[in-house]
This record gives sequence, structure tokens and C-alpha cells, in this order.
Amino acid sequence: MNNIEALKEYAIENQVPIIKDAGLSFLLEQIKTYNIKEVLEIGTAIAYSAINMALVGPNITTIERDQKMYNEAIKNISDFNLENKIKVIYQDALETFPLIKDKTFDLLFIDAAKAQYQKFFNLYTPLLKKGGIVICDNLLFHDLVNKEDLSDLSRSLRSLIKKIRLFKEDLANNINFDTTFYDIGDGLSLSIKK
Ligand code: SAH
Ligand code: MG
Repeated sequence: MNNIEALKEYAIENQVPIIKDAGLSFLLEQIKTYNIKEVLEIGTAIAYSAINMALVGPNITTIERDQKMYNEAIKNISDFNLENKIKVIYQDALETFPLIKDKTFDLLFIDAAKAQYQKFFNLYTPLLKKGGIVICDNLLFHDLVNKEDLSDLSRSLRSLIKKIRLFKEDLANNINFDTTFYDIGDGLSLSIKK
């Protein structure tokens, strides 16, 4: 598949949780505004966001732990002839640090397991250049993060929502970053490293 609309439709039909249109526009806009050259993405899925980012310029290193997703990502990247711009690492992102610790990045895009955002953030922000940015997706989590009464949700979902709230709070209070939250798409944050 070498047509971005077809890739998006495939993802929607197969319930691959790709970034929403508004979130993607936001992400691509920041890549231009901040003149991003090197991206580290946590959570490749089928490489929909990685391909979209690579098509506007930067090199992408992206990490995926699910084998089926990884295989589809590799195939899609090859269909778009983007093997030179996108490197996919098949691993749990919590284990990948030693492999990439000598690289630096302008953008860290966190879009994997929502309960682990704090860990991803702590692990990979040291690889960000000064003035580099972090963008996190799904901080609204289908609007559940702003829901007051969580009593009708499952225990595991409640725990996840609380983790996302705590992550947002810590991010807002992190003095090493200037953070703004955007209630577009499924909720995004933009943090600039001071
Ligand atoms: N960024 C993609 C969507 C990613 S969906 C896009 O917008 O097109 C989230 C992906 O993160 C899933 O494919 C899931 O397998 C992967 N993932 C979740 N936790 C992970 C982890 N700890 N390490 C690596 N990949 C992870
Ligand atoms: Mg997402």
C-alpha cells in the first residue's frame, strides 16, 4: 500500500489505533515549526504516523513490540520507499535505551502503552537536544481522562485513567519543560525542553 489514504482506511477497518486527523495535522505542523530533523517515536503500529512524518522531512527511529504490527510496518515503509528515512526497532521500548543511547533527537513522540508514559518520558528525554520537544498522544483517552465519575468503569480502566492524569500533572509541574496541553484529536501535549 503506497497511498496514505488507503493506509488510513486499512487502519480504521482493522482497528489499529492510529493518530486522529487533527492530532496528525498538529504533529506535522510542529515538525515544520521546530525544524525537526530526527524523531524518536514510541509505538509504531503499522507506521501510519511514522510514514506521515517522514514524508514531511525528518528521519524517524520508531519502536514497536508487537510482531504483527512490526511486520506490517516494515512492509508499508518499503511500499513507500522510505527504508532510508524510517528505522523500526522490534522491541519493548522499555528495553531499547542501550541500543540508541548515543543518538540525539529533536522530537520524542510518545504513543504507546498509556500506563507507561512516565517511564518512556524519563527514559528518553535525556536523548533530546536542548530546545527539543516531546509530544504525547491520547492524553484524553476518549474523553475519559476528563470524566468526573469513573465508577461505571472497570477497575483496570480506572487505574489507567488515574495514571494518565498523574502523568499530565507531573508534566505540567516539570520545571525542565514548558508544556501546553491541546484538547484536539485524542488529546496531545507539547513540551519544550529548556
Ligand atoms: N503511532 C501510531 C499508533 C501507535 S498505537 C500511529 O499513530 O500511526 C500504539 C502501539 O504501541 C501499538 O502497536 C503497541 O503494540 C505499541 N506499544 C505499546 N507499548 C509498547 C512498548 N512498551 N514498547 C513498544 N511498543 C509498544
Ligand atoms: Mg495515539
